[in-house]
Amino acid sequence: MRADHETDVVVIGAGQAGLSAAYFLRRAGLRGRTGTDFVVLDHGKQAGGAWQYRWPTLRMSRVHGVHDLPGLRLAELPEAGDPRRPAAEVMAAYFEHYEQTFALPVRRPVSVRAVDRAPDGRFVVDSAGETWLARGLINATGTWDKPFWPYYPGRETFLGRQLHTADYTGPAPFAGERVVVVGGGTSAVQLLVEIAEVADSTTWVTRRPPVFHEGEFTPEHGREVVAEVDRRVREGKPPQSVVGATGLTLTPEVRAAREAGVLVRQPMFERITPRGVRWADGREQRADVILWATGFRAALDHLAPLRLRGPGGGIRMDGTRVAGVPRLHLVGYGPSASTVGANRAGRAAVRELLTELDR
Ligand SMILES: Cc1cc2nc3c(=O)[nH]c(=O)nc-3n(C[C@H](O)[C@H](O)[C@H](O)COP(=O)(O)OP(=O)(O)OC[C@H]3O[C@@H](n4cnc5c(N)ncnc54)[C@H](O)[C@@H]3O)c2cc1C
Repeated sequence: MRADHETDVVVIGAGQAGLSAAYFLRRAGLRGRTGTDFVVLDHGKQAGGAWQYRWPTLRMSRVHGVHDLPGLRLAELPEAGDPRRPAAEVMAAYFEHYEQTFALPVRRPVSVRAVDRAPDGRFVVDSAGETWLARGLINATGTWDKPFWPYYPGRETFLGRQLHTADYTGPAPFAGERVVVVGGGTSAVQLLVEIAEVADSTTWVTRRPPVFHEGEFTPEHGREVVAEVDRRVREGKPPQSVVGATGLTLTPEVRAAREAGVLVRQPMFERITPRGVRWADGREQRADVILWATGFRAALDHLAPLRLRGPGGGIRMDGTRVAGVPRLHLVGYGPSASTVGANRAGRAAVRELLTELDR
């Protein structure tokens, strides 16, 4: 089998999870210790993982619990201390600085289209222009490229605009409009709060009643959520969002919006009409825009040739390793889909993969 490049490990994705894996690969002294090599392939135009695409009004004061990458504190970046700076800019600068500091071999923009097995058991990583052959693979492609839009009857008949969190650029385009926001997570709340200031009206619709809690979630609660998602993926079930499951924090801003009546939640509508949405009891809400803040799914389409998914659509995991598949690790997936989880997963995956490669 011929390829443009041969290497020991390919890491796909240079977000928090991929950079953490790259750091530990570098630190393990890959080149020096075992004579092996690695490359990180990322389809972003610049450093920053998915953070670079987040809307400009998502300021550092609004992100919660962003964990330092291993080996270099975010606080060392002068701009990180300013809570008014957009997270997209600060995190992109941080990631870029990180890649340079540890001389991480990131190649971009490289969009991986498919990963398959070569006859000799190595992975064939195929991008639009080039192919890599690798003994081990660490996949760290996150979720941003896979926005989730649930289907409701009549969606295609709606005459107004529909967009997803992934398309959101800030509140200005909603000025004077009647906006329906769908979704019960932190993004839905943050977007509602800022859109309500300029819109004619906002309507918040969620499947389950939202749960607000005082202050940041506790480490114990975080551990419980992670353990539950870990249990699910070990059983081969599709994961839930770790960040989503930690609930909604009552910040002063959210509290004020609640008191102003912005966060009055409606149950899920039954159908979408040309001019709005309609509930089962016949009630209707006119709308110019429906904003789907309905989350994301793991961006794993390029792994389809490996046939990892079970009957329920999930991938059975054993820690960061895909169960039963040698030398293939998913980081930032399932229980490690948070900035702290991504860090730890990078380290765990590298430790295990190096042992597998040495064997
Ligand atoms: C709006 C929002 C706010 C969030 N806020 C927080 C927070 O405050 N705290 C927190 O802990 N978590 C937060 N999260 C979750 C957090 O962003 C993630 O858990 C973490 O940053 C994801 O890191 P990652 O490396 O897994 O993925 P990403 O940062 O998405 O990185 C994946 C990388 O893979 C690349 N890629 C994808 N597909 C391919 C491909 N086929 N070929 C090549 N490259 C590819 C992408 O370009 C990207 O650079 C938030 C998520 C969202 C959506």
